[in-house]
Amino acid sequence: MFVTDAQGVAADPIADNVERQALREAVRAIVRDVAPPERRLPLDLAEEFDDELHAHLAKLGALAIGAHADQGGEGNALDQLVVLEELAAGPTSMAVFMVVHYMGVQVLSVHGDADQRAAWLAPLAAGEAKVAFACTEAGGGTDIGRAMRTTARRDGDDWVITGEKCWISGAQRADFFVVLARTSDGTSIDGITMFLVPATASGIEVSEIPTVAVHGLDTNTVVFDEVRVSGASVVGEPDLGFRLVLEVLNRERLNAAAGAIGAGRAAVEYATRYVAEREAFGSTVGSFQAVQHRLVEAAVAVEAARGLLVRAACVEVAGGRADVLSSMAKLTASEAAVRATQTGMEVMGGAGFSVEHPMQQWWRDVRLWVFAPLNNDMVRNYLGEQALGLPRSF
Ligand SMILES: Cc1cc2nc3c(=O)[nH]c(=O)nc-3n(C[C@H](O)[C@H](O)[C@H](O)COP(=O)(O)OP(=O)(O)OC[C@H]3O[C@@H](n4cnc5c(N)ncnc54)[C@H](O)[C@@H]3O)c2cc1C
Repeated sequence: MFVTDAQGVAADPIADNVERQALREAVRAIVRDVAPPERRLPLDLAEEFDDELHAHLAKLGALAIGAHADQGGEGNALDQLVVLEELAAGPTSMAVFMVVHYMGVQVLSVHGDADQRAAWLAPLAAGEAKVAFACTEAGGGTDIGRAMRTTARRDGDDWVITGEKCWISGAQRADFFVVLARTSDGTSIDGITMFLVPATASGIEVSEIPTVAVHGLDTNTVVFDEVRVSGASVVGEPDLGFRLVLEVLNRERLNAAAGAIGAGRAAVEYATRYVAEREAFGSTVGSFQAVQHRLVEAAVAVEAARGLLVRAACVEVAGGRADVLSSMAKLTASEAAVRATQTGMEVMGGAGFSVEHPMQQWWRDVRLWVFAPLNNDMVRNYLGEQALGLPRSF
């Protein structure tokens, strides 16, 4: 068992909180009872969203964490991290879903006006509606501000949105989209506006992109063909929507790190249990030093990432500047998760290939967090500039 689990130590302010420990235990119990491997792995193979698990999370109140108090929100970023870690330690796709969900919750809670919160946030926080976040386009995800070709033009009091988004998680089941569209000429990040668009609006077409991982959540191209929305659907100020995305990205980095840590931790624990039982050469595989060293290195990498995440999250919650630490946490956690799941696959031998074991699912799924929400090369660029003070390299 990992340090955090074993002791609930005071050195970890995320763990050292009675209510948060209870939340962790509650999510763990839901995953254990509702989404054990024998139920969730067939769903993953069938590429189906787990509605039952989603309903249980709604009942627990996990979907309302971080929401504006008027919409029944309780808890903060630290509570979101706990939910994400425990989900990623099981059905990783639901953790990815929740990362997107919490982005929607944050945007609406912080920047939505009272009418928008009542209309969009209330059902979202109650689990009665789902949101998809439509930012990326085929022309470039990392440099999306410059690459964005989706436009919105004013027509009287309305806006008319035209363009194509790609890689949009959960678009098939979304009740509404948060859409970023260019509203002023140019390639700068200003001139982009954030809109709330009902999925039922005329002119929207969603088509699935087959992917290698995160099979419990659909990934899609979304076409907006002259989609008309009212002026009331603008979040924040026109032309300043990308600044809201940058703000959300900071929290998204923390949340992605928590997911990576959850899957990495689960991979080490699962592999450790497996090698402790598996026999070879008159002993167990877990008795071999080469196997132990690799598992230990993976465990240390995951715990090191957790240390960074805890620091970053505490700065974020205290209202300080968390961008450098959260970038470090996301970088370290995603690479630790890749290492842990790779080690898991190696030490499990042929069993790692079996779809009856969850290792292959974690191994596939954690790769998302290496390049999303921001790719790790770009994270290094950012840290070169912001943490080390070197010239901007991008
Ligand atoms: C399963 C899945 C779900 C997703 N969900 C969503 C979603 O819900 N909403 C949404 O808007 N988007 C979503 N995305 C998109 C995701 O955010 C982008 O894939 C990501 O931002 C990277 O963009 P890209 O794929 O265009 O990579 P590119 O920008 O083409 O970059 C490719 C690679 O080039 C390198 N690179 C790029 N720029 C630099 C640089 N400046 N310096 C050094 N190296 C660089 C990096 O190695 C990078 O990984 C999703 C993607 C996937 C695969």
